[in-house]
Amino acid sequence: MLFSQLFVNTLKEAPKDAVLKSHQYLVRGGFVQQIGSGIYNFLPLGKKLLDKVRFIVKEEMDKSGAQEILMGFVTPAELWKESGRYEQYGRELLRFVDRKDNEFVLGPTHEEVITHIAKNSIKSYKQLPVHLYQIHTKFRDELRPRFGLMRGREFIMKDGYSFHSSYEDLDREFDTMEMTYKRILQRMGVDFKIVEADSGAIGGSGSKEFMVLAPCGEDTIVVCKNCDYGANIEASKRAMRTQPRAFEVKYDSNPPQAAFARFTTPDIKTIEDLSAFFKVDKFYIMKAIVKKAIKVDNSTELVFFFVRGDDEAQEVKMLNAINKQTNTYVTLEDASIEEIEKAGLVAGFIGAYGLRHITQAQHIYFDESLRDASNLICGANEKDYHFVGVDLSTFEGLDYADLAQSKEGDFCPKCSGELYYTKGIEVGHIFKLGEKYSRAMNAHFLDENGKTQYFIMGCYGFGISRILPAILEQKSDEYGCVWSKEVGIFDIVIIISNVKDSTQSEYAHSIYEKLKAKGIDVLLDERDERFGVKMKDFELLGFNHALIIGKGLNEGKVELIKRESLIKQEFSSVDKDILLEEILKVLV
Ligand code: ATP
Ligand code: MG
Repeated sequence: MLFSQLFVNTLKEAPKDAVLKSHQYLVRGGFVQQIGSGIYNFLPLGKKLLDKVRFIVKEEMDKSGAQEILMGFVTPAELWKESGRYEQYGRELLRFVDRKDNEFVLGPTHEEVITHIAKNSIKSYKQLPVHLYQIHTKFRDELRPRFGLMRGREFIMKDGYSFHSSYEDLDREFDTMEMTYKRILQRMGVDFKIVEADSGAIGGSGSKEFMVLAPCGEDTIVVCKNCDYGANIEASKRAMRTQPRAFEVKYDSNPPQAAFARFTTPDIKTIEDLSAFFKVDKFYIMKAIVKKAIKVDNSTELVFFFVRGDDEAQEVKMLNAINKQTNTYVTLEDASIEEIEKAGLVAGFIGAYGLRHITQAQHIYFDESLRDASNLICGANEKDYHFVGVDLSTFEGLDYADLAQSKEGDFCPKCSGELYYTKGIEVGHIFKLGEKYSRAMNAHFLDENGKTQYFIMGCYGFGISRILPAILEQKSDEYGCVWSKEVGIFDIVIIISNVKDSTQSEYAHSIYEKLKAKGIDVLLDERDERFGVKMKDFELLGFNHALIIGKGLNEGKVELIKRESLIKQEFSSVDKDILLEEILKVLV
């Protein structure tokens, strides 16, 4: 392709709202253009990248035995009502009516549609297992679309769904998909980590995320220094701790030895102040967290959680705890002081004794690290009083759940190595759905014994458009885009330094033809522009290599620059066939 014919418009300035370098470069490089909040047009170079990603994903998915389909983007609301998600999904789901008042949604994900397909087409266990996927547009009315393609409202996803007659077979497919995603990301040339993810209230180890490691990542992931353990902070486990963290000990790592007693603690409300007042480590103080849980029908109720004073409660874990029995809570908000008072409590003095009685609360949970713990301090549910020497093993019917967030310096649940935080961009998510949708939508088949069984399902998402900014966040530099070998726009650009110099021009055209004949994806920058402009475009757009045909040609020299790290290599023979061989060695 000739640069002069390429439909591309590079910009000097990045859009004002573009904080991430990937967003800046994708817009400045003319790969994409914003047309509405969180909605982008892909121009030729952007489309080319998207196709490369699509190609790799398709090739690996097909190799794994999955089959490509295409589902309607516009989905009848009826299906979403069947699954119960029409109400549950919240405001990210774009609902609308047609001229006949039929209700529809723009598909943010396609579990309902695929379950409908299976329900209509799969009658017998003999047709199982089957894995169907599509690469298609999704729409989620994100509250804060941002970072360009990273969090769009309209975006492109590969979503696959598998159907099985047993949980063992689902496990097998889940492992196959983990390997498939691993190969996909290796081919895309990024550093990534596979981490355990939140599986919602269903729990279990049924969900993994694929994180491209980059400082701007919106997800915090907890990683072990010693083994391969990694988890999203929303789901991270840790080894049980029986003592304060050594590096945090302020007073005494041993428990306070006090008989059960009620102490006056005038205006001492925070964990910090209590710890100083009693000269007791925060580990032994029970922290109460009061939240307002919002239900699907918008009604609210106060819910209570307790963690150790040196821990933080994890929002997603808290939500999962209250959703364990009935999946009816959508979000948690902080309860206000007034709401706490209305429930008969005093903020800063909330404790376990009599709490259910005072508040009639349905949900009171204690973190696992408090299981049957003794020698604790907690609020007395009375202004200016705390209890000391509290022993939870003497309480009856307490509900425990994993609520606390793993902290740096905690120990790995697998090997006891030290845990630390890093940042990742979620580009893939695989999930064991089990019978969640098949039950809700009454989708079943006949098993080997002629018995009706619900489909056992898995789902597997990959962010086709999100992987582009993810690659850039990891690989690009201060000059512009750096792509990878398989996800790139051109293998090589031949830059003619001075197009008016016919020797340079003829030589470049001839090398261009030769590379083309060898099947290399080559661009010839024959524009009548200054050399500096052409170099800047090479750096900004990120062609994988540039061959510079300049003054050196007269002395028998040409230069090849690798975009990644901008490493230069000089060839001292301009014999075209020798040069071709040398270039092919680098490119192929
Ligand atoms: P996030 O936590 O980032 O909002 P998600 O967990 O809601 O993502 P999934 O439902 O797991 O996303 O979707 C599968 C994949 O689709 C994600 O791993 C991601 O790569 C991609 N994706 C999800 N939301 C967006 C979006 N708004 N813009 C671009 N890609 C997205
Ligand atoms: Mg996800």
